[in-house]
Amino acid sequence: MQIYILLLLLLIGSGSIAAYLYYLKEKGDELDAIAKGICPYCSKKSIELYDIRGGGCGPRIVSYRCTLCDYDNSFSIDGSCNF
Ligand SMILES: [Zn+2]
Repeated sequence: MQIYILLLLLLIGSGSIAAYLYYLKEKGDELDAIAKGICPYCSKKSIELYDIRGGGCGPRIVSYRCTLCDYDNSFSIDGSCNF
């Protein structure tokens, strides 16, 4: 019976990893579009940066929104320190 529990845990584990990777890919695609100033929702050049939290040498939370639709998203970006 234990082998089934193990298989079930493996299935759940790989499922959540796949979901996480998909989530990262989605975020990456959105960030690519936003870096060009394009809204990932309405595909217009209407993205504006409205908030940056953190800074210096650490992760930064950067918030973008679209001025045409209600797209609003935050991304954490690693602040790299080059000395
Ligand atoms: Zn938009």
